[in-house]
Formats: sequence, C-alpha cells, structure tokens
Amino acid sequence: MTFPAECVRRYRDAGLWGTRTIAEEFHEVALAHPDHEAVAAAQGRLTYAELDARTDRIALGLADLGLRPGEPVIIQVTNRLETVVAWYALLKAGLVPVATLAAHRGHEIAHISRAVGARAHLVEADTRGTDLLAFAREQAHDHPTLRHVLVLDDLPTAEIDPDEARKRVEEIQRGVDPDDVAVFQLSGGTTGVPKLIPRRHAEYWYNARAYAAALAWTADDRVGHLIPVIHNAGVVCGVHAPHAVGACLVLTDHDLDTALPLLAAERTTSVLFGHVHYRAPAHPLYDSLAETLRVVLLSGAKVSEELFAATGRGGAWVGQLFGMAEGMFLVTPQGTSAELRRTTVGVPISPLDEVRVLEPGSEEEVPDGEVGELCCRGPYTLRAYHGEDRPEAFTSDGFYRTGDLAAIHAVDGHRAVSIEGRIKDLINRGGEKINAEEVELLVLTHPHVVEAALVAMPDPRLGERGCAYLVTDGVPVTLEDVRAHLRALDVAKYKWPERIEVVAALPRTRVGKVDKKAMVADVTARLQDEGEAP
Ligand code: AMP
Repeated sequence: MTFPAECVRRYRDAGLWGTRTIAEEFHEVALAHPDHEAVAAAQGRLTYAELDARTDRIALGLADLGLRPGEPVIIQVTNRLETVVAWYALLKAGLVPVATLAAHRGHEIAHISRAVGARAHLVEADTRGTDLLAFAREQAHDHPTLRHVLVLDDLPTAEIDPDEARKRVEEIQRGVDPDDVAVFQLSGGTTGVPKLIPRRHAEYWYNARAYAAALAWTADDRVGHLIPVIHNAGVVCGVHAPHAVGACLVLTDHDLDTALPLLAAERTTSVLFGHVHYRAPAHPLYDSLAETLRVVLLSGAKVSEELFAATGRGGAWVGQLFGMAEGMFLVTPQGTSAELRRTTVGVPISPLDEVRVLEPGSEEEVPDGEVGELCCRGPYTLRAYHGEDRPEAFTSDGFYRTGDLAAIHAVDGHRAVSIEGRIKDLINRGGEKINAEEVELLVLTHPHVVEAALVAMPDPRLGERGCAYLVTDGVPVTLEDVRAHLRALDVAKYKWPERIEVVAALPRTRVGKVDKKAMVADVTARLQDEGEAP
C-alpha cells in the first residue's frame, strides 16, 4: 500500500513532496552547483557536474544491458567514491537499489533477492576477506529473476555525447512516477526474516531535505559520513541530504584511524557519529577535526555529559538524531538548550510528522514523561511493508509501531522525545540490527540444540553483542559448534552469537514466557565478574 490519496495531496499541497524523481532532483541541484564538490573520498573527488555527467553515461550503460525501469538491483558495496556514482547511476536508469549489506551472505541475499524479484546484483570486487563477485555469481545460479552481476569499479558506460546521454536519461525518467518505489531498505525487524521497506522518490528525497533543513546545512557544508553509506542513515544523512542542498559528502570507512585524518583534511563541517563512533572525541586526532566542525550529531544510544562536552569542545553544536529505515527522524532542534540536546533525541523533522507514545499493545496514549511505545505517522514513514500484510505493525489509524520505548518531555517549549529502550527483540550490534528470532530459529536447526534464546550482552565498543542461551540434548555444544553451524547455513557473520551459556532450562517468567531480561542480567553479571562489562 502506498500513502492514502488524501495524504499524498496534503503532503504535496504543503510543498513537502516534490514532483520529481530522486535522479531528477539530483540533476537540478547539479545544475545549480556544477563546480561544487559533490563527493570527496580516499579514492578521489567529483564535482556535481562530473558526478552528474558520469552517472548519466553509466545509467545508459545499464539500460543497454537490457535492465529496465522498476527492476530491483541488490547492492553489496562499502563506503567508496564509486558507491555514490553507482547509486545515482542506478536511479537514473530507473532501477531500484535494494540496500543490503556487504556482510550479508546466502541466507539473507537468497531470501531478499527472491522477495523483490531482483534482476541484477551489484558487488564490490575487492572487499577484505570475501570474494563478493564469486558469491554473486553463485547466487545467480538457478535464480528465478537474477540475470546480471555488476561490479562496482567496472560498471558499463555508454560512450556517447553528454547531451545525448542527458536526453536519454530524461526519457527514462519521464516513465518513472515520483510516487513509485525508488529504493528498498531493510528493516531491523522483529520477526524471523528481514522485512523490506519500500521508499518512494518524493517522500525519500523529502526525508533528506527536511533533515538537511533541521541542521541548517547550506551548499558550503562538508558532511562527513563513516557508517555504511547504503544503510538508510547513510543514504538519507550522507548522500541525499547533503546533495539536496548542494553540499559535499566526505565519505570515509568506519575506522577512526583512517577516517579522522580524511575528515580533518577535507575540512568537514558536520558529522554523524553512530554508537560505535562515540569513541571519536577521545581519539588523539579528534581535535584537528573539531576545528572545522560546526554541527555534530550523535545517534544510537544515550549520551553522557562527558561525551556531550568532549564532542563539542571545539565549539561545534552537538545534537542527537533518532532515525529508522521505516521513516521517522527526530532531531534536536536548532536554538535549543544543551539540556534538551543532551537528554533527548528532539522532535520530528517535518511539520506534518505525528508522534504518539502508546501503552504497548494498545492505542492508549501514556501521559507526558511516562514510557510507552513510540508510534509515528507522517510524510516519509511507511504505511506497509513490501508484499506483506502486517497489521500488528500499525495502529488502526496508520501509526507505525516502532518497537522503541520513549517518553515525551516538555523542554524549552518543545515536546521532545527521549528513547528509553525497546520492546522489539533485537540486538543492536554497533548499529547493525540482529533479529533475535531469526538467529534462534537458525540455531535451533543444530542437531543438539533443543531450546535457544539470543539476548543482548553489553559491549564497550559495539554497545551490544549477541549471547545465546542454549538447552542441549545432553551432547556438549560449544560456541565454535554454533558458529560453524551458522557458517554452514551461510548466515552473515555479524549475526553469529559471540558467547553461549548452556543451561539446564531457559529462565521463564511466572506466566511461562522465556525471560530475556533475566538472561541479560545474568550475562551482564558474568561479564562483570570476568572484568569484561563496560
Ligand atoms: P535502522 O532502521 O537500522 O536505522 O534502525 C532503527 C532503530 O535504531 C530504531 O528503531 C532504534 O531502535 C534504533 N535507534 C536509532 N536511533 C536511535 C537513537 N538515537 N537512540 C537509540 N536508538 C536508536
């Protein structure tokens, strides 16, 4: 289901949604800022005019392969200059990127590529450790729809005159509706298999435009991005939002030792640190970056006073972001107190966003200050997952139930939201979401595992990691056995448990439900005894 017609009208009448596709929005900005840098990375840099012209020709190269508008393309790439080129080239060809992770393996890709009917699979040839090219070729065997394996540094380019290329891209784009699906993102999800989130041209570009506006970015900004750029946060905060205002994306990998010197050398003015990068302000190279930073966003976990102060020590405005691939973005507003910016994730970025905090499982709002489930509706928050009817994910009036726990606080004249935990059963491993039920079902296929529960154990660097509580049939099972089993099932490595506890029976609550809180407390105490807890 797309957005109800009445909402579409309202979002357009209010000037929030445009009437162009993402490719055409980018082209308009490129015309306005041809000589501005659009992207800078360790591999090189491109101005808007260069990126625009290059992606036109690659788009036609893709079209000449026989790829047609609307066809989904699985992407497994890392943070490189060519990734940004490929992104716009796919969109210009009218293709629909499916934003999977380079870390995904057969278990994930086989499911996702069939669920969307992928036509092509784009990989990076030389990622560390894994031969994604061989993997993609293997995945294409006996696949009902996959026909092409594309390689990031070797995308087909039409050797034609730039004006001719532009005309042909415009022709392709005329056939794409701004309310069509532009991109598929993956949900962290709460049940067995990853769910697909359709993001549509007008609403997705608006999401980015509203985020850039919330941060008061201009064409002079240089926006650093270290977390996976093909995640939703990467596409919105790192690619579309800077490009919506003619700013430059400074794209780095996630390693602070290489990222910080590049961000500093590129005179980065704004950066988003996910939870894994909350260590950045303690890094010896942070001070040189702090000299040029104007806006820093922290996202993914509570912010301590020390972190807040250390992040802003060069004079930058420090704030917080709450975002999700399903849509809703909350950002601490400009011109608000340090108190609001440190203790809350702020307010929705769109005037037509609506937030309610509900008693979990009900449609009853809880009073301000009390904790309930964050539910939201608005001009860029999904109304349905792709190909699935999941009424339990929405209220009867279309609010998306995020699975996050939140409270609303009246601060500085704003109704600001604080995040207070979650009810969805996942592990947030440095920003990568691990769906507990998905892993439990896989672990249960081990011949000697009778019961399994995956819980989050605290980790000083990643925030959380997966610990599996197992009941076996009496035959000893080790962590290595479990990991070897998941490897054999071709499951992405970040989902493999990093610790197991073999128990006689899983702890249960008085009503007989598996008691994950008890297991989290148990493993946390064990880590503390071992001197490993944060
Ligand atoms: P994703 O869809 O991968 O971007 O993940 C979205 C989820 O990440 C949210 O539903 C939250 O559980 C979590 N998340 C995002 N931002 C924050 C934040 N600022 N604080 C706590 N959790 C967050």
